[in-house]
Amino acid sequence: MATGVKTENGKIGLGPDGTPLSTILEQAQARGLAVGLVTNTPLAHATPAAFAAHTGSRYAMAEIARQLLAARVDVLLGGGENAFLPQWWTGHYPEPGTRTDGRNLIAEAVEAGYTYVWDAAGLQAAALMHAPRVLGLFADEELPRPQTPTLAALTEHAISILSRRPEGFFLMVEGGQIDWACHANDAALAIGDTLAFDAAVAAGLRYAAGLENTLVIVTSDHETGGMALSLSNNGGQAFAMPDGTPFYVTWTTDDHTDTNVLVNAQGPWSSLATGIYENTHIYTLMAMALTASPELILDGSSLAYPGEPLTFAAHFNPITATLPISYLWTATGQTPLTTPGGAHSTAGFTWPLTGTYTLTVTARTPEVTLTARRFIMLRHQWYTLYLPLIQKRAP
Ligand SMILES: [Zn+2]
Repeated sequence: MATGVKTENGKIGLGPDGTPLSTILEQAQARGLAVGLVTNTPLAHATPAAFAAHTGSRYAMAEIARQLLAARVDVLLGGGENAFLPQWWTGHYPEPGTRTDGRNLIAEAVEAGYTYVWDAAGLQAAALMHAPRVLGLFADEELPRPQTPTLAALTEHAISILSRRPEGFFLMVEGGQIDWACHANDAALAIGDTLAFDAAVAAGLRYAAGLENTLVIVTSDHETGGMALSLSNNGGQAFAMPDGTPFYVTWTTDDHTDTNVLVNAQGPWSSLATGIYENTHIYTLMAMALTASPELILDGSSLAYPGEPLTFAAHFNPITATLPISYLWTATGQTPLTTPGGAHSTAGFTWPLTGTYTLTVTARTPEVTLTARRFIMLRHQWYTLYLPLIQKRAP
């Protein structure tokens, strides 16, 4: 999902033969985007690690923590303070550090320009003060329930920090304890954590609302537990929906399964996220949104009648376009027209006479100017008359 390459279980950012793989986060960073990782598990846990670290084992968490900071990930929010502190050192949380190399990565991060926060108030202050780089560690290991800050609050603050970068940003948010609840076959925790994750998704969608250049993907890296819901009493654990309707939860395993998982996406290239495909396709989708070169598409009629009102639409791709975009429409025999717009804009024209006309639209962003052209042929309306047939009766 992070690199587009399938590898062996437990490897982080390495191919099956141990070759380091470039991740989507690194590619976004190379293009000038701000990048962030958010989780309610330890930051050096496998999922965030896969986006910015390269090690032979997911359990090398001290090394992964070092690599996350060395990679200059702009926003790092999660648990796992232990992996950032030496064995003899206690930070803001009771357990001592676990690093055997004696390094205090928190102190090193602050020296390197990170704002370090350890609670909800500190995170809010860092966001308000426009801190460009933030390391937030909110627990020794995973964030205990009820989680403070909530995953939704972590997401909201991460977005507010990252979205100041004019080039755009990449953010991965993990609701990582849903998997743990499913390993324990604990349906109440799995449902509660899924609702908390849903609130984090809502925070992402609130930001993306009206931003046609923002791709949002919601998915899972795998299913755990073979969790199944039924409306009929099959002996599973009983729950009730908000309206009181009972439902029952059963499990088939305490481990990961190969069940297909859902992918929901909105924004540029999200049309590629329909159907069933390999998990590496998620990487392709993100890479398309990140790297596709800008293009301007001009839609509308190319054959019409004189006097017919015609509407044309211009569509600007991709995700990295900086708004606002201004659209200049020039057409044979028409006064030039400028329309403001996001990724889309429309304009209407009417030509009174027959002939072939050229419509040109020029989209201008702060970085790039693109032009698209369309020919419109206007011809007379021809009427077809059907004459009645008269059948003659034989004499
Ligand atoms: Zn798991």
